[in-house]
Amino acid sequence: MIQHNSVRLAEGLYCYVWQGRGNNCHTVLLPSVLRGERPHVLIDPGHVRNELGESCFDSLTQAMEKNGFKMEDIGLVIGTHSHPDHVEATELVVEKSGALFALSREEDEFYRTMGKMFFQAFGGKPPQVNPFFYLKEGDLSLGAKDNKVAIRVFFTPGHSPGSISLYLEEEKMLISGDVVFAGSVGRTDFPGGSPSLLRKSIEELSQLDVEYLVAGHSTEMGNIIVGQDKVRRNFYTVKTFF
Ligand SMILES: [Zn+2]
Repeated sequence: MIQHNSVRLAEGLYCYVWQGRGNNCHTVLLPSVLRGERPHVLIDPGHVRNELGESCFDSLTQAMEKNGFKMEDIGLVIGTHSHPDHVEATELVVEKSGALFALSREEDEFYRTMGKMFFQAFGGKPPQVNPFFYLKEGDLSLGAKDNKVAIRVFFTPGHSPGSISLYLEEEKMLISGDVVFAGSVGRTDFPGGSPSLLRKSIEELSQLDVEYLVAGHSTEMGNIIVGQDKVRRNFYTVKTFF
């Protein structure tokens, strides 16, 4: 059963909004940006199966297929952070496609120590994948010359020690992982969390010119915030109340 709602955003980017009853993250697909045979980039593939036994990965695979995209054609998986509900399915994507995996060095170090225990605590199996490269703060340019996606990587710890957020400059799209949500912020009571670092990270992100804010999870207030004014108001709210 497909439990992801596929939302086509600017320039043909897709957000797969999780709509199941249990927990899972939203996934973003950047289609046809890499050179070579596996041109798609997948950000936060999510759970394989969540706490209610919902088949999150099968749902994502089918939702993508409905849009004409195959898991086999993913060339790169990016993890905003290493929590199970964001990257557990990485191993399956890599198995199907041979995709490379990237996250921040800080998050990889956390994953290798405390982060892995997180999976065990939630009854899951930590994915056996090694990052091919580390995402550093600054510009990341993907793709061929005439089809480049300019991404700015922001190091935004607080929810997890090595969380990153991705800003697509041309589309003015911010993919914030679990740093900021519609009307809320990420939890800081998990291992390695820090409220003061989270506040600093949110302050930094709030300076950006954002038209689409794609958060890692839905809240009662929504999932994707569209429009500069609404995004600005959302940052104002979270900075005021959290
Ligand atoms: Zn998380």
